[in-house]
Amino acid sequence: MARIVMKFGGTSMAGTERIRRVANIVRRQQAAGHEVAVVVSAMAGETDRLVNFCREAHALYDPAEYDVVVASGEQVTAGLLALTLQSMGAKARSWLGWQLPINTIEAHAKARVDTIDAPDLVASLERGEIAVIPGFQGVSAEGRITTMGRGGSDTSAVAVAAALNADRCDIYTDVDGVYTTDPRIVAKARKLKAVTYEEMLELASVGAKVLQTRSVGLAMKEGVRVQVLSSFIDDDATPADDLPGTMIVSDEEMERIYEEGDMERQHVTGIAHDKNEAKIILTRVPDKPGAVAHIFSPLADASINVDMIIQNVGRDKGETDVTFTVPQTDLARAQALLEDRRGEIGFNRIITDSKIAKISVVGVGMKSHAGVAATMFTALSERGINIQAISTSEIKVSVMIDEDETELAVRVLHTAYGLDAKDEAA
Ligand code: ASP
Ligand code: MG
Repeated sequence: MARIVMKFGGTSMAGTERIRRVANIVRRQQAAGHEVAVVVSAMAGETDRLVNFCREAHALYDPAEYDVVVASGEQVTAGLLALTLQSMGAKARSWLGWQLPINTIEAHAKARVDTIDAPDLVASLERGEIAVIPGFQGVSAEGRITTMGRGGSDTSAVAVAAALNADRCDIYTDVDGVYTTDPRIVAKARKLKAVTYEEMLELASVGAKVLQTRSVGLAMKEGVRVQVLSSFIDDDATPADDLPGTMIVSDEEMERIYEEGDMERQHVTGIAHDKNEAKIILTRVPDKPGAVAHIFSPLADASINVDMIIQNVGRDKGETDVTFTVPQTDLARAQALLEDRRGEIGFNRIITDSKIAKISVVGVGMKSHAGVAATMFTALSERGINIQAISTSEIKVSVMIDEDETELAVRVLHTAYGLDAKDEAA
């Protein structure tokens, strides 16, 4: 017997019929002898609808009241799933964020889980009851309802799994796993049997939006084994133990998976692309200590995330150009902030471009292998793709290119690293 947390996303919860399917999947898991807690999202589109109501009610809405409104979507689906399970003869009940409670810290609309006190929940599971928990919501130290940022149900599920010491957290979604790259771009993309937390974090943060990035960080910190799998399976499919999703695991577990020969060791695990960044160039910045601090401190204070940074070689007259990227949604704000500080920073022109893309190759295998970056640069240059900036980490190499060349670059790299599926799978 295992204790399993199952999480269902908005597409899986959209309507009575789909909730019935979810209930069937949940019951099969229980019938296989497991204790089950289920975390649910609001119906697809519901949270957007609720956010719009808040905007219409008050352009500068109070985040505490926003949380009251947007948390309601998950309350509806949690109750409906509990009812559906009961209609099938199962013992089930809902547990709202304040009832568990899921204690959160930090601000409204972007709360973080602090502690979950779950003795009553555990007792209920041990009595064979299915627990249904609305994702996304928690309770603040002041006793007010909070929400954890868009996509936060993934984080709720992982947090509940950690608190329950669950054997696994199964995330059911509208894709059936994590792929070597976006299958809409590369038909020969392959589903990965397993990825490490670190790899998943890099893939998620550069555009492979299967899970909320924060949930992966939490899983890594708490050592929660996460599985991503599809909820669009046959009603009579086998329980999740035998379903081929993608496991997100620790480095140690990954070693075991390799040793048992379940997976071939590759230098590069996956390729991600991200079109949501924009480039800013500041020309003729004084080339002296403190200059870049003047640029990036105000951006940091405004919570604008700067990603790639290049400081070009100095020109004569002690000046240099500084290029960096910010999320496209923050571009206007960043530009205004920098214009405001033109005197202090001392740049000449500010040039922006949102027609860029970031392509990243990710893999723990590159820790112990040279030449991964060189392969990337060669493959791109052979297709005439110009690289505008480069950044690297221990398990990732990213390049900035023209947005129009995104699909070509992803395809070329997928082939270059030997990731293409063999013909029969294509
Ligand atoms: N319903 C929330 C959202 O759409 C949380 C979630 O589904 O993960 O962002
Ligand atoms: Mg989601």
